[in-house]
Amino acid sequence: MKKHNFSAGPSILAQEVLTKTAAAIINFNNSDLSLLEISHRSKDFVDVMDQARSLALELLGLTGKGYQALFLQGGASMQFLMVPQNLMPIGGKAAYLDTGTWAAGAIKEARLFGETVVVASSKEANYSFIPTDYQVPTDANYFHCTSNNTIFGTQMKSFPELDMPIVCDMSSDIFSRTMDFSKFDLIYAGAQKNMGPAGTTLVIVKEALLNKSGRTIPSMLDFEKHIKAESMYNTPPVLPIYTSLVTLQWLKNMGGIAAIEKINEQKAALLYNEIDRNPLFKGAAKVEDRSYMNATFLLHDEAHAPLYDSIWKAAGISGLPGHRSVGGYRASMYNALPLESVQVLVDTMQELEKSI
Ligand SMILES: *Cc1c(COP(=O)(O)O)cnc(C)c1O
Repeated sequence: MKKHNFSAGPSILAQEVLTKTAAAIINFNNSDLSLLEISHRSKDFVDVMDQARSLALELLGLTGKGYQALFLQGGASMQFLMVPQNLMPIGGKAAYLDTGTWAAGAIKEARLFGETVVVASSKEANYSFIPTDYQVPTDANYFHCTSNNTIFGTQMKSFPELDMPIVCDMSSDIFSRTMDFSKFDLIYAGAQKNMGPAGTTLVIVKEALLNKSGRTIPSMLDFEKHIKAESMYNTPPVLPIYTSLVTLQWLKNMGGIAAIEKINEQKAALLYNEIDRNPLFKGAAKVEDRSYMNATFLLHDEAHAPLYDSIWKAAGISGLPGHRSVGGYRASMYNALPLESVQVLVDTMQELEKSI
């Protein structure tokens, strides 16, 4: 039987998506060729790229609003440097909200390009909350934030209203909840959390933002070049893009983001209710800032860890140990994780309570 996969990333994909990907690897579109052995410029693959780009915009409600969708390489980590290189003019300024390891990684790269103001940070509290009381310098060229902190299990529930472009790393919660995505000017997300396998990164960018930095940008790092080339400036990672498309189709067929959001809310409520009810466990993140995608929780008494670990492993659960910077457990409940898997997890927590 398939494991209950709570892995933080690369992470669970819908069974139907895996089946379709496997079939395309063997025989793509009845061509008697594998998806992996055809030209990325063949009509069949160009269709995949076009559909993936337009469906990403459609699901986010951004079609016809001046945005372009790109499937790039180098992971979300490459966006840490592509964003300042493309958006921060020489002598310019960028504002960043430091809410976790990934935000800090983005800040480190931005500093290579110019003045980078950290408007607030929860680092001193081991990133257990999202700072809310901060001022963004009005002369910043953009504001950067991370919508969901995969490692610490916090999630931004609201975003500041600012008179400047807003850039958001949505790697671990894109397509998981409804929002007015047009409030953002640039959104990026590594595929391997909520969209597909590792190897491609979705970038949604407002075209009006580009070509203003006055910098000479190497071609592979230039959003404009990737837009002109329709996301095929060089050979794209065909497999992760194909699997991302199939995942987006799966999401659309089930009713899009609004439909998955309801299930995600049920999953999160089920688990957090148990974390709060069960006297053996406690949540790691501030309650108001808890992530619906990555729930971090700890045992009050670490001495129970060997018994609990044997219980959840026996229940067919995988990927539950917490990140080393938080410890305890992290249950990643991405779109493809069924509600039943969360019920199995809750059952193991109750089983521990009964056996102590
Ligand atoms: C996983 C993750 C990253 C890093 O993604 P890579 O594709 O490995 O570079 C960045 N930001 C967030 C929020 C993540 O969850």
